[in-house]
Amino acid sequence: MVYQRSAVEALPAYVQGKSIPDAIKLSSNENPYPPLESVAEVVRECATSFHLYPDMSAAGLVARLAERWNVRPEEVAVGSGSVEVASQLIHASAGEGDEVMFAWRSFEAYPILVQVAGATPVPVPLTADDRHDLDAMVAAITDRTRLIFICTPNNPTGSVVTRAEMQNFLDRVPKEVLVVIDEAYSHFDDDPESVDGLEFFRSHPNVAVLHTFSKAYGLAGLRVGYAIAPERVATNLRRVAVPFGVSTLAQAAAIASLDAESELQERVDVILGERTRVVAKLRDSGWQLHDSLGNFVWLRTGSATAEVDAILREHGVVARAFLGDGIRVTIGSPEMNDRFLAAIGNTAPAA
Ligand code: PMP
Repeated sequence: MVYQRSAVEALPAYVQGKSIPDAIKLSSNENPYPPLESVAEVVRECATSFHLYPDMSAAGLVARLAERWNVRPEEVAVGSGSVEVASQLIHASAGEGDEVMFAWRSFEAYPILVQVAGATPVPVPLTADDRHDLDAMVAAITDRTRLIFICTPNNPTGSVVTRAEMQNFLDRVPKEVLVVIDEAYSHFDDDPESVDGLEFFRSHPNVAVLHTFSKAYGLAGLRVGYAIAPERVATNLRRVAVPFGVSTLAQAAAIASLDAESELQERVDVILGERTRVVAKLRDSGWQLHDSLGNFVWLRTGSATAEVDAILREHGVVARAFLGDGIRVTIGSPEMNDRFLAAIGNTAPAA
């Protein structure tokens, strides 16, 4: 038998929510709207250059992002989705015996990526009200801690870290430890108290910010995300990146999306209105929900998770169930949300 790393063979695979025929898919926090015409147009124009490799440095996109966020291009690193950039951050910071910390439950990919890198995942349980337990995270720091992910709004709970909490946290984290603020859902966060990652990047030498084009910009299928990181870190992200990881198509569509930000924001605003409506209806029918500031809601279904998930599926709704814990349901178009609300009406609310 060929040799394979046992640590890899022991890993759970990252699973994608499975579609079922005629069902609506609310399992991946996708944007329900198709690409803007201006973005589709640019993508069509790109087709004439598909025989050529992309610009490996993604210079146009990096320059545009640097301008957008008022940072230096040397501080921007792009990748094939922000999950790829998260992987690069881990590979650049942590090896065998090093620790990477994150709250749990959070983005399912973190523990997998850490183990693939041969480092040790350190999950720190969320508080009883599903928020980051930043005191417990500080207490869990050791001399092997290399990187800490703070996902805000947190996937799947939708909870956020406030500015004041982040300041207090960073005051207690050693400067050798890189703190990555994963803001995949920040466009949906309309709480003025919430962290603005860029503000902390500018004031702290050990903070990086992770952004994606998959959610608010609606380009999940094109795979493009980026980090804004201290120059030394960003340089190392380029060193560990797979060459040509971001396609010509993805680069062009990302630039066109940045050009159309206000139009995209209008769509985000519709999703926020829908989130308010869905949460109110769920609460009216007895569900106890914390506020969610992502494009999804988190139903704490505990031991009834499999049962509630089966009922949703029977009624043609695919959500993301985490057995024994809860169900994350993406906010879709008004029609999709109506279908979800009708389906959930067949279940008993979990208090
Ligand atoms: N971070 C978080 C918190 C996420 O939920 C996701 C996607 N589900 C990602 C990063 C990765 O997104 P992408 O690779 O599509 O940019």
